[in-house]
Amino acid sequence: MGGRYRLQERIGSGSMGSVHRAVDEFLGREVAVKLIASLARTEEERSRNEAEAKVLSQLNHHSLITLFDAGTEVSPSGTSIVWLAMELVQGSDLSRRLAKGTLPPRQVAHLAYDLAIGLDYMHRGGIVHRDIKPANILLFDYREDENRLRAKLTDFGVAQMAGSPDPQGDEFTGTAGFMSPEQVRSEPAGPHSDVYSLGLVLLRCLTGNRAFPGMAVESALARLFRGPEIPDDLGPEWVGILRAMTALEAAERPSAHEVSEAMQDLATAGRGRRSTAADTERDRAAEEVAAVSENGPDPILDRITALTARMLDVPVAAVSIVGGDRVWTMSGSGTQRGSGDAADSLCPVAVREDSPFIVDDVQKDPRTADDPRVAASPGFGFYAGVPLHNAEGQALGTLCVMDRKARSFTGEQEATLRDLAALAADVLQLRRDARNARDAGESSRCAEPLHSQQAVAD
Ligand code: ATP
Repeated sequence: MGGRYRLQERIGSGSMGSVHRAVDEFLGREVAVKLIASLARTEEERSRNEAEAKVLSQLNHHSLITLFDAGTEVSPSGTSIVWLAMELVQGSDLSRRLAKGTLPPRQVAHLAYDLAIGLDYMHRGGIVHRDIKPANILLFDYREDENRLRAKLTDFGVAQMAGSPDPQGDEFTGTAGFMSPEQVRSEPAGPHSDVYSLGLVLLRCLTGNRAFPGMAVESALARLFRGPEIPDDLGPEWVGILRAMTALEAAERPSAHEVSEAMQDLATAGRGRRSTAADTERDRAAEEVAAVSENGPDPILDRITALTARMLDVPVAAVSIVGGDRVWTMSGSGTQRGSGDAADSLCPVAVREDSPFIVDDVQKDPRTADDPRVAASPGFGFYAGVPLHNAEGQALGTLCVMDRKARSFTGEQEATLRDLAALAADVLQLRRDARNARDAGESSRCAEPLHSQQAVAD
C-alpha cells in the first residue's frame, strides 16, 4: 500500500473492512493497516469511506489511535480501496479480553479513565465517536503489568463532527448492544451518546453480562424504556456513576471530563488508601522520621542515593518522606535536600498506593500526562519510585529515580531499586530509633548528638 506498507497477517476485521499487521518499509517499523474496500460510485459514497482517515488526522491524543498515513489504491479488479496506516497496538481488544471473564473494578476504572480523557479531548474538538464498544477498545500495557492495562480507542468509521448532518442518514449508527437511546431513535448523537455507550461497556466489564440481552432490535429497543440493571454489590460509587452515565435523557448524563474525574477517584480508592485515622497515624510517623533531617545531611543515605543513581544510570535519585501535604528530600543525588509541597511531587502516588510507581514516559503516560506538575516540567521523562516502609509496615516515603528522557526499566532494575529502598528504609528506622532512645534518655550514649550515633546505625 502506498508504495511503502507491506501487508502481513490479518489481525482484525469488522463491517468496514479488515485490519492487517504491516511493515512500513521506509521507516522499518510495524504498523497496522486498515483496508476499506469501496464499491462507492458517487462522490458522497467515496467521501464516506474516506471520512475515518479525515477525522483521525485531526486527532492527537494518547488514548486515541494515531493515524500515520492514508490513501487510496485501485485493485486489479477495479475496486477502489481506502487504506489507513495506524500505530500498531500490540495487545488484545477489550472484546477478546472479556471473553476470558470480567475485569477487576480498579482495572476497569483505569481503562475508563484512559477512555474518558480521550473522549473529553475529542468532544472538546467537536467530534463524537458514535461506536464505543469493546471491539473498538484496544488494550496494551507499558510494562507487562496486568494490573494496569491501558486503553486506546480505535475505529472512527462513523465518528463525526457533533451537530453536523448524519452521513448515514436514517441508518443505525453504532452497534446494537452499546448504542445510546438517541442512536436507536436515529436522532443526532452528541457527546453524551458516547458517555452512555461507555457506561454500558464498563458495566459489561464489571458484570460480564449484556445490559440489554436479546436479538439486535429487541436489545436496542429495550433501552428506550428502562435503564440497564446495575447490581448494588458494585458499591455506591460505581452504581452512582454508571446510573448517571446511562441516564435515558442525554442532558442528565455527566460529561466525559466528569467521568474521568470519577474514574480517577475509583482507581485510587481501596488501594493503599487507609482510613483517616490510619492516614493521620502514618503522617505522624513520617513527620517523626523527617525530623531526623534537621541534623543535617546523612552520609549513609547520601551514599545510597549516589549508588542508586550510578547503578541505575540516572541523573537523579532521592530519598523522600511524604507527610501530610509536605515532601522532605532527606538525601538527593542530582537534586537538593529540603522540603516542598507534596502537590509538586510524584512521590505521594507510590506512598498512597503503597506499591512501586514506575512511569516510562511521564509526558505520555495517561496516569501523569494530564498532571499539571508534568505539564510544568517539559524536560521530565522518566520516574520510578518504590515505597520506604518502617518497622510497622507503613509506607513513609520513596526511594525514587528520575531521568530527563523517557526510558524503560527492566525487572532487574526494579529489583535493584527495591533492594536499595529496603536499605534506605533500614537506615531511616535506625535513625528514628536512635533519636527516640536519646529523647527518652534511655542510655547515656543516646544523650550524645545523633551524628555520633553513626557507628551504631551503620
Ligand atoms: P466495525 O465492524 O466495528 O466497524 P471495522 O471494520 O471498522 O469494525 P475496526 O474496528 O477498525 O474495523 O478494527 C477491527 C479490529 O481490528 C479491532 O477490533 C481490533 O481487534 C483490530 N485493530 C484495529 N485497529 C488496530 C490497531 N491499530 N492495532 C491493533 N489492532 C487493531
